[in-house]
Amino acid sequence: MKLATRLFLSHLIVVLISIALLGILTTRLAPAAFEIRNEVETIQINGNEQLESNTSSDRSSLDASITEAVITALLIAGGVAVIVAAGISWAISRRIVRPIRAVVDASQYIAGGHYEQRLDVHTHDELGDLSHQFNQMAAALATIENTRRQLLADVSHELKTPLASIKGYMEGLQDGIVAPTPETFHLLYCEADRLQRLVHDLQELSHIEAGLPELNLKPHSANALIESVVARLVLQYQSKGIQLCTQIPPTPVMVLADFDRIGQVLLNLLGNALQYTSSGGMVSICLNPENGRAHFSISDTGIGLAAEDRERIFQRFYRVDKSRARSSGGSGIGLTIARHLVERHRGQLWAESEGISKGSTFHFTLQMA
Ligand code: ADP
Repeated sequence: MKLATRLFLSHLIVVLISIALLGILTTRLAPAAFEIRNEVETIQINGNEQLESNTSSDRSSLDASITEAVITALLIAGGVAVIVAAGISWAISRRIVRPIRAVVDASQYIAGGHYEQRLDVHTHDELGDLSHQFNQMAAALATIENTRRQLLADVSHELKTPLASIKGYMEGLQDGIVAPTPETFHLLYCEADRLQRLVHDLQELSHIEAGLPELNLKPHSANALIESVVARLVLQYQSKGIQLCTQIPPTPVMVLADFDRIGQVLLNLLGNALQYTSSGGMVSICLNPENGRAHFSISDTGIGLAAEDRERIFQRFYRVDKSRARSSGGSGIGLTIARHLVERHRGQLWAESEGISKGSTFHFTLQMA
């Protein structure tokens, strides 16, 4: 039952009980009060030995008796009705205030960092809804807190390796154990570079997760988008000996997209395909318009993905082969950023693979303009 209906009914019940009490008690008490007053008057008359009486004084005395009896009965009945109504109202308000009090107490508890606090939902009215929404909010806060803790742990873990490496080389140089050769300085430079990229990726991820910057959505030709990214990578593909082919329709497929951001997604997927495919392999990019969406797919003949990794690779810092990805400078954030960007375009990004060493295909969709 809705809170408004409950409040209305409870007030109505209090009023009805008060009226009933007033009616019952007045009808019971008024005649008794009238008899008592009559007896008192008769005794007074007998005591004064006024045996003579006239009709008008009898009537006024009768009126006064009735009035007084009714007032006495009304006062007693009214008093009882007020006490009963106050008792019922107090019980009802306690029932209504109890869940609100519980919400206040629980929010103070959560404000103190105890995100596990939950409320029991007993009713199906607005107060039940309030408790339910409160529990959902507490669960969301707990998830955010866990993510924050996990992120801190991940970031410190990621920073530890390059920092330990830099420190080790510096100590070796100081003690004269490591020779100050160009190779040593190049290694130090690579570690510092990896740290810089990690910090840059994290900054980028935090901006994108916060919904920044605003997407500059405009109609663009998906064909032109693919061609511009291919042009940037073609030399790297050639130098690694990997064939890069495109299968795109002759007429432009217009998509509603932020050109730079989708370019970044394509660059990440084509960069990964280049990195995880050995020389002699092939990478192909396909574009198909279907059901009002443009479907992009990037297939490679590379190392492939195990079934359990196909979804995990989109989690931040997740790398299938940690040492291999690290040595190539991968932070495991690229795909997380790419998925965020595609989802902000109201599209989807997912991976498919027949298994290890059987290549992989990354698909994503965008709304057509
Ligand atoms: P990274 O910077 O490490 O490449 P990503 O988020 O781009 O980070 O990728 C996460 C992980 O997904 C990679 O470390 C790799 O294990 C796996 N991966 C990405 N692309 C491919 C691919 N085309 N083939 C096989 N594995 C891939």
